[in-house]
Amino acid sequence: MEEKHIHEHHHHHEEEEGQGRLTKILAATVLLIGAVIIEKYTDWATWQYLLLFLVPYLVVGWDTLKEAAEGLLHGEALSEDFLMSVATLGALGIGFMPGAETQFPEAVFVMLFFQLGEWFEEKAEGNSRKSIAHLMDIRPDAAHVERDGNLVTVKPEEVTPGEVIVIQPGEKVPMDGVVLDGHSSLDTVALTGESMPRSVHEGDEILSGCVNKSGVLRVRTTKVFGESTAAKILDLVENAAENKSRSESFITRFAKVYTPIVVVLAVLVAIVPSLITGEWATWIYRGLLFLVVSCPCALVISVPLTFFGGLGGASKKGILIKGSNLMDRLSKLQTVVFDKTGTLTEGVFEVTAVHPQELDQQELLHLAAHVERHSTHPIAMALLNAYPDEKDSCTVADIQETAGQGIIGTINGRKVAVGNSKLMETVGAAWRPCHHEGTIIHVAVDGVYAGHVVISDRIKADAAPALAELKATGVQRTVMLTGDQESVAAAVAKQLGVDEFHAGLLPAQKVEQVERLLSAGTLAFVGDGINDAPVLTRADVGIAMGALGSDAAIEAADVVLMDDKPSKIAAAVRIARRTIAIAKENIAFAIGIKVLVLLLAVLGLATMWMAVFADVGVTVLAVLNAMRALRA
Ligand code: ADP
Ligand code: MG
Repeated sequence: MEEKHIHEHHHHHEEEEGQGRLTKILAATVLLIGAVIIEKYTDWATWQYLLLFLVPYLVVGWDTLKEAAEGLLHGEALSEDFLMSVATLGALGIGFMPGAETQFPEAVFVMLFFQLGEWFEEKAEGNSRKSIAHLMDIRPDAAHVERDGNLVTVKPEEVTPGEVIVIQPGEKVPMDGVVLDGHSSLDTVALTGESMPRSVHEGDEILSGCVNKSGVLRVRTTKVFGESTAAKILDLVENAAENKSRSESFITRFAKVYTPIVVVLAVLVAIVPSLITGEWATWIYRGLLFLVVSCPCALVISVPLTFFGGLGGASKKGILIKGSNLMDRLSKLQTVVFDKTGTLTEGVFEVTAVHPQELDQQELLHLAAHVERHSTHPIAMALLNAYPDEKDSCTVADIQETAGQGIIGTINGRKVAVGNSKLMETVGAAWRPCHHEGTIIHVAVDGVYAGHVVISDRIKADAAPALAELKATGVQRTVMLTGDQESVAAAVAKQLGVDEFHAGLLPAQKVEQVERLLSAGTLAFVGDGINDAPVLTRADVGIAMGALGSDAAIEAADVVLMDDKPSKIAAAVRIARRTIAIAKENIAFAIGIKVLVLLLAVLGLATMWMAVFADVGVTVLAVLNAMRALRA
């Protein structure tokens, strides 16, 4: 919290500074115009004109001179401020050399433009920060809590889990919880980029950051504010920009080499030809042009801003990319590996048949429901829904879940195993195959086969187009991995047109498959976050679906798709490519213009005006170009 305050304060301070800068720029412009007019109608000595132009120069440049001097004391000789100070002081002084023309207005103008560029940069960064903050407008301001029969309004941070809050229509949901009374529709657009409102009723879970549209809701909170969805997502977005991209750090390294080289060249240009030709004034002037051009501002400012914009544009579409370093990898995806359940399919199963062997149908479902109450797997939900009143006097103990196999527990002293054929083999039950279409969940009691339940899942409407789109963006191979049985996997794979699928895999075998596929190029793994954290970490890009509610996914993944739509992967690839393309355009443009002006300077064809354009003009254009990345 402390840190946030400092942060905000800092921004506030920056804004004031920007105002002051603009006032100085305007004042200096007026003074410069005045000085130019006076120069035109008078016939003074050079030193008198120097004094005249020093007025606007110092008005606009004093801060730069001061920073340059301070930088020098700290051993940072090659700061932008220093380069600009030397270049402009040189331009002011050159008029006193024999045979040289005065450059007073030019010197003031360079400084003026430099300040204008700085002001512009602050504005642009502030704007993109603001627009990201706006699109991530999910930070709740207050919560109304029921305490001792009264409704008190407190900060969301002050509510403890288990307290009951009331959410009025039009308000943001301050923290995650479960609806006690009321029904309403929730606007999730800020969280997911999806404009379809979601209706909630008594008993439904609701997530912070949504906006309550219609009815009054009483909600029992389940998490503290800091652990709630809104706070986690804000944290993620705020930290994302700090994970630097490879080309971003490349720019910083490049600037470190580029600046000294140009400075050395400037000195050489000023001295070497002068020693030969004796034309000191001409060559010192050209050296000064080098210094003006040498500022790497256009690159150092615009490239990070481009990535920042790209991250913002993506989050507007419900795609959270955890760092600009992932943009590189996303843009080069070759292989996309999908988990099946919950990723390509809805993950919402329904029981379609019950085939008991020993017990009756109800008893089979009853036992299964008791153990599955302790699982979060989508299959568990289906079995619970099929036997709703499982809460009775049965004693349940020793619950043990095995990822990719199923779950075992002791009910009234009998060991009940619920899962796939692998689990049946582990407990030594003689399971039977089933001719029904769907996922077969077997049940064994004390190692004796008791029958099976057939459940089926639906393929997401969005899945087939998503795979086609990925192919269209240049992804070479799509693979589906699943712990489900071969027949179900084959049907899904065929319907979706994935290139390759592997069924019956345990979580560790999924990791093996991913490792094998990693050699074929940049690989993304897409999962729903339920038991696939190891694979998410192993892939070049781990993409988690439906992060709303799944904490494990938010933590393990590199990219989080806020709605459950696989088609957002292709969108993420496109955004990454566009962002990188814009960054490259800026690099090429800035370096191109600078090299051109440097060449013209050596040939004696460049003026101070051109040098200013090559520095500040290019920065402004690059920043404008960078802002395009925000509009996905
Ligand atoms: P997927 O790879 O399709 O996401 P999982 O690895 O989550 O599948 O699970 C693989 C298989 O393990 C499931 O198809 C099911 O047969 C079995 N299984 C896993 N968890 C459970 C559970 N809680 N109850 C019953 N069966 C389970
Ligand atoms: Mg799964």
